[in-house]
Amino acid sequence: MAIAPFNYPVNLSASKIAPALIGGNVVMFKPPTQGSISGLLLAQAFAEAGLPAGVFNTITGRGSEIGDYIIEHKEVNYINFTGSTPIGERIGKLAGMRPIMLELGGKDAAVVLEDADLEHAAKQIVGGAYSYSGQRCTAIKRVIVMESVADKLAALLQAEVEKLTVGDPFDNADITPVIDHASADFIWGLIEDAQEKGASALTEIKREANLIWPALFDHVTLDMKVAWEEPFGPVLPIIRVTSLEEAIQICNQSEFGLQSSVFTNDFPKAFEIAEKLEVGTVHINNKTQRGPDNFPFLGVKGSGAGVQGIRYSIEAMTQVKSIVFDVK
Ligand code: NAP
Repeated sequence: MAIAPFNYPVNLSASKIAPALIGGNVVMFKPPTQGSISGLLLAQAFAEAGLPAGVFNTITGRGSEIGDYIIEHKEVNYINFTGSTPIGERIGKLAGMRPIMLELGGKDAAVVLEDADLEHAAKQIVGGAYSYSGQRCTAIKRVIVMESVADKLAALLQAEVEKLTVGDPFDNADITPVIDHASADFIWGLIEDAQEKGASALTEIKREANLIWPALFDHVTLDMKVAWEEPFGPVLPIIRVTSLEEAIQICNQSEFGLQSSVFTNDFPKAFEIAEKLEVGTVHINNKTQRGPDNFPFLGVKGSGAGVQGIRYSIEAMTQVKSIVFDVK
């Protein structure tokens, strides 16, 4: 059973379906409702490629209505899911003894040390945080910066965010409406909470329907929701710290463990930090992102279970059986 989210409805479906088929499995695919046309076109492409009837099957319908039925169906012997953490947890419980692969939400941090190339870090962070209007599991969702370079980094981030264009995707704007009003309301709630609790907005805070202007907040404190929750929208909090230990502690305090970035020119230290971060992948001097499909891709803690990637996915969806033949 392959279930994909709305934000990459083709890639995150194909990266489940193709390895499953290569492993000799029959696949049932449920596309996201808000990406179902893309999902159906993908299914059509598989059919045109000549797969025998019944080997690849597509079922549409709202997850909230058909989800439990398709997950609990007795013919389903593996569930490969990408989506939010609460739905992943529900699927995990319903799966029982059946194996699952879960790729879930994140709260990826960019940790910026005193010796980092700040201009480079600011460009990477803004690209990582705001592309797809922040609707990426691996978007940078918090900046954790050493106090001594925080003013400079904040000014550089602000200058980069000001370059982003806002508007219609057909005009190739950088920041476009988020997927729906419910999502915009949730993001706006995080923004209002940060404002009420005293975060300093470095950008214009503005919303029209489900279009939210890129929001950058400095002096975010740990009592603010935006420090911990996944906005899945164009909002970036800056949290200032005074030691490396504090930075690592805040990173690891998150319920999520998808990816992190570390910006520094001290490479031994970068590897030392990478080892301590409770995440699936650490990028040194680059934004958090999903790599080519053959790279291992995984989340730990609330960000998932199992490892995706062509080889890893084929192995995960292949049932091993030993037959021991004794010749007398
Ligand atoms: P979502 O609401 O969890 O939905 C994901 C998929 O699950 C959709 O196809 C959805 O169908 C289906 N679904 C919903 N309820 C279900 C249920 N009870 N049983 C079975 N399936 C159910 O997530 P989303 O809003 O589409 O995507 C955003 C989330 O995905 C974010 O948290 C993001 O971080 C995460 N994500 C993670 C990765 C990763 O690789 N780690 C990649 C991309 C996105 P409907 O569309 O019909 O509701």
